[in-house]
Amino acid sequence: MSKKRVIIFGGDPAGVAAALSQAEAGNQVILVEAAPSFGGRRLPQTRIINGESGFSAVDWEAVRKHPNIRLLTNAELLKAKAADGSFHFRLRQRTPRVDPEKCNDCKACIRVCPIHMYDDFNEGLGFRTAIDFFNPSVGVYNIFKEDMPICQATCPANLDIRSYVGLIADGKYAESLAKIRERLPFALSIGRVCPHPCEGACNRGHVDEPIAICALKRFVADWEMHHDIDPPVEVPEQFHDEKVAIIGAGPAGLTCGYFLAKAGYRSVCFEAMPEPGGMFRYGIPEYRLPTPTLMREINWILEHGVELRCNTRIGKDVTFEELQRDYAAIFIGVGAWSGMKLRIPGEDLEGVVDGVKFLKDANMGKKIDARGKVIIIGGGNVAMDAARVSWREGFDEVHVLYRRTKKEMPASPWEIDAAEEEGIKFQYLVAPVEVIGDNGRMKALKCLRMQLGEPDASGRRRPVPIEGSEFVIEAETLIPAIGQRPDVAFVPDDSGLEITRWNTLDADPETFMTNVPGVFTAGDVQTGPGIAIAACAGGRKAAAGIARYIEAKRRAAA
Ligand SMILES: Cc1cc2nc3c(=O)[nH]c(=O)nc-3n(C[C@H](O)[C@H](O)[C@H](O)COP(=O)(O)OP(=O)(O)OC[C@H]3O[C@@H](n4cnc5c(N)ncnc54)[C@H](O)[C@@H]3O)c2cc1C
Ligand code: SF4
Ligand code: SF4
Repeated sequence: MSKKRVIIFGGDPAGVAAALSQAEAGNQVILVEAAPSFGGRRLPQTRIINGESGFSAVDWEAVRKHPNIRLLTNAELLKAKAADGSFHFRLRQRTPRVDPEKCNDCKACIRVCPIHMYDDFNEGLGFRTAIDFFNPSVGVYNIFKEDMPICQATCPANLDIRSYVGLIADGKYAESLAKIRERLPFALSIGRVCPHPCEGACNRGHVDEPIAICALKRFVADWEMHHDIDPPVEVPEQFHDEKVAIIGAGPAGLTCGYFLAKAGYRSVCFEAMPEPGGMFRYGIPEYRLPTPTLMREINWILEHGVELRCNTRIGKDVTFEELQRDYAAIFIGVGAWSGMKLRIPGEDLEGVVDGVKFLKDANMGKKIDARGKVIIIGGGNVAMDAARVSWREGFDEVHVLYRRTKKEMPASPWEIDAAEEEGIKFQYLVAPVEVIGDNGRMKALKCLRMQLGEPDASGRRRPVPIEGSEFVIEAETLIPAIGQRPDVAFVPDDSGLEITRWNTLDADPETFMTNVPGVFTAGDVQTGPGIAIAACAGGRKAAAGIARYIEAKRRAAA
């Protein structure tokens, strides 16, 4: 009989019994338990303090000693998938936070631990200390620690909010910035533009209102700027020989370069546009993120040892193969710059400008033909930026059409409010069906009224057309802002790089390496259009992945 590998989740008596019977049948068993101990019960704290054995169950002893059983306590299932006739599991085992090599089993820690909590193993009927003796049979001590605060867990970069806000409260501004910069080099910029999901989760919101986390980050970064304090440039004394190529000087690419420098790796950042910053520079309008403020932060990042080569498009000025030949690793952070098409007749007429291109032109100071009325299609933040920039460019009327209702709009509520206050007109439950032109230029938009049906895959109610509800709005300009996709045409066909059906690049969630060894990615090109802090978070993790990759190669070559 061929032996199987069996995984069992749950170290309660049923799990223990199943593990034993499978092991007895000759199978290799992994028994996984989320709690730090097996058995589904634990002796009261008093007995543990006295050092008596916690477990006496015969089954437990048999399980512990069985050669076919591997025990994993304090572990949880993250992902499971079926492939090639078997199952694949991704598990995470939490640290017990006590070094078994140093622990001499004296239990003094239990006696002195000041954290008393309800005993979760006895249905909260008794008390225990945060450090406890959960697994006496193998002498494993464990410190119970709550996961990170909800704000920190919600921030895509897991910024240590509690610490940096606390340091601000203590007037320790430089220390607060240092804390932020452990995970993010863009405090000035992110402090201005982050939609701050952390605040939506902040527990203080249940009492009165959330901590103003984003504004505090902006405050402390502005304090440094307004006091003309040069932020410290802290890099190792010596850099390694290997260099990394970064494609794209957006938030992801520059954050990656910054953390590579911190790890002792120089990088060269190739940027297609005349200036760095990605969507920080060419998407987000000047009134939300001024270029001098952004450039102060970028120049400081470059000082760490990131070489910038602007006006250099990979795939045109330099090939991807050249990068593969000349650099120890490549990071792809090219963002998502191709505007999605409406797929309606007349879309190619003059006067129809994609939202990202419109904002890019405005950010580059190009002359905008702001005659008459402009219609913006979409309900996201790019649509709000396009509308508010249109207003500033001097269009007589700015209309936003959205196919659902205000409630379903994905844009930040404060952006919608600001747009309304500025005089932008919103029409809800409306979808475009045809751009009507005259002599090659648009002159009107034919629309259809919608109603909300059943929820779709996104959980929002699906817009359903109302038959016979067509109407026409006259307008000189139409700006579709309904989403973007990455442009990865620079990747050669024979590179082997897997491109998803959304034109994004897949990467390992831990290392951020693509399916091609040595090629890493993060940011909008990996996730699809997202928010800047998520791109920064990916850039930081990819830098760690790249450093590990290069070090492993160096070790293998030694
Ligand atoms: C209009 C708009 C408003 C936004 N507002 C906000 C906001 O308020 N808050 C927020 O958090 N997020 C916002 N975002 C999203 C945020 O800007 C992005 O999530 C973030 O910039 C993504 O970073 P990235 O580094 O992945 O890509 P990008 O910022 O897009 O940078 C990619 C860079 O790669 C370069 N590049 C592309 N192809 C090549 C090539 N072949 N060779 C060399 N270089 C190349 C590009 O020129 C660009 O500089 C907004 C986005 C847009 C479009
Ligand atoms: S980066 Fe954004 S999500 Fe993270 S702490 Fe700052 S405001 Fe919150
Ligand atoms: S009060 Fe809010 S900001 Fe402070 S730690 Fe709790 S969740 Fe985070």
